[in-house]
Amino acid sequence: MKIFTALLGTETNTFSPFATGYQNFNQTYLVRGGQHGEHPSTFAVPLVIWKRRAQERGWQVVESLAAFATPAGLTLRKVYEAYRDEILADLRAAMPVDAIFLNLHGAMIADGYDDCEGDLIAAVRKIVGPEAPIGVELDLHCHLTQLTVDQATAIITFKEYPHIDFAERAEELFIIIADTLAGKVKPHMALYDCQMIGVFHTTREPMKSYVADMQALEGREGVLSVSLAHCFPWGDVPEMGARTLVITDNRADYGAEVAQSLGQKLFAMRDQLVPDYLTIDEALDRAVAALDQKGPVVLADVSDNSGGGAPNDSTFILRRMLERGVTNAAVACIWDPIAVALAMEAGEGATFDLRLGGKMGPMSGDPVDLQVTVSKVVEEAHQYLGQGDDRGLAKLGQAAALKTAGIDIVVNTHRTQTFSPEAFSCVGIDPTQKQILVVKSMQHFYAGFAPIAADILYVAAPGAMLPHFDQLPYRRINRSMWPLMAGQSQE
Ligand SMILES: [Zn+2]
Repeated sequence: MKIFTALLGTETNTFSPFATGYQNFNQTYLVRGGQHGEHPSTFAVPLVIWKRRAQERGWQVVESLAAFATPAGLTLRKVYEAYRDEILADLRAAMPVDAIFLNLHGAMIADGYDDCEGDLIAAVRKIVGPEAPIGVELDLHCHLTQLTVDQATAIITFKEYPHIDFAERAEELFIIIADTLAGKVKPHMALYDCQMIGVFHTTREPMKSYVADMQALEGREGVLSVSLAHCFPWGDVPEMGARTLVITDNRADYGAEVAQSLGQKLFAMRDQLVPDYLTIDEALDRAVAALDQKGPVVLADVSDNSGGGAPNDSTFILRRMLERGVTNAAVACIWDPIAVALAMEAGEGATFDLRLGGKMGPMSGDPVDLQVTVSKVVEEAHQYLGQGDDRGLAKLGQAAALKTAGIDIVVNTHRTQTFSPEAFSCVGIDPTQKQILVVKSMQHFYAGFAPIAADILYVAAPGAMLPHFDQLPYRRINRSMWPLMAGQSQE
């Protein structure tokens, strides 16, 4: 047997102020021929697992492009087309292949392509013909389009948000495709449109039990896999929206029944799913009131999460903390390569005046002018995402810790959200000793920070990922979905 694997992904925020191009892929993840190194990036973990499982069976593995860009605005057309065509050329050269494994994100939008994944999978299908199984792993923040489902053989999305389960889902997909090749199963996918959008944290109820219920259905009555595509609400394309997907062993009617009942169950829970978003002052009031608790209060700056395409350099929360005289606090990470370069040049212990953040546009707020002292600089800083042995390394680039007026600020050169406490400790800040931690992240921070946090607050500051959907300037989505449909308010 011979399998072919590739990774191509980003999560396109059509409201983000800057395009996704070669430089972003280059800086985030761009590997050819399986050179993933000894400690694979989170993006490469599924590819490494598929290769390991295939080689255990004595199969041949052809690894094509592995390319991922930190979420930002619309992907440049020439960039998407070049990467797609590179994968297709590799595939043609590798033919005949028995199965294809694609690690995609599922919310990549390029100039001229609303559905990059559907386009890519359809092109792969054209080359390999109708019989070869195509297995696809997607982020749950995907636009699970009809074309994608029609052209692939089996699709599995992550179940957990934060995404701590990409390795388990890769293992499951491998088994379904291997069993298909062995003639043991005949996957059939049933898709159901939930008619809703939102952000659904699986760390709390009722989603926690919903995930457990999805898992309980698997392996019974011919159900091979159950996925919920949460949707990515900052991608303004016609097929954006939550969908359930059930793969059965050729039980089309039963699969459709399960997909529908799961979708209706999600819709029925809709009001309980909306996270409790606070204003900046509400969050700071609660954090200050909780100061005698054990451990820091974590404030998630969800609107400036580069994991969803925001710039990651906004200053709204920092400015308000400075105005209010908040101390014993730390902020990670503000993407500001110029500030990092100045800190590197000045060196540890140096004090100087700095204009920080707020550079990428109105959604970043205004820069703040500060006197800072450099407490530490690191040439190659890292944090982690995931769990156990399969947790992936996530780079921060060059990083510096800056001290000002009782607040420690981590600035870095690789635009990324904050995943784990290492984002602080890598530059010598002990996050457990702070009373307030501000992290730029929507939800991925949760797995890493929950164990040290006294409380976790979600803050809807201004920004490119504002979580109030009725305030987003949508032009192309289906507006009949909850919570946008007439007569329904969001909360
Ligand atoms: Zn996601």
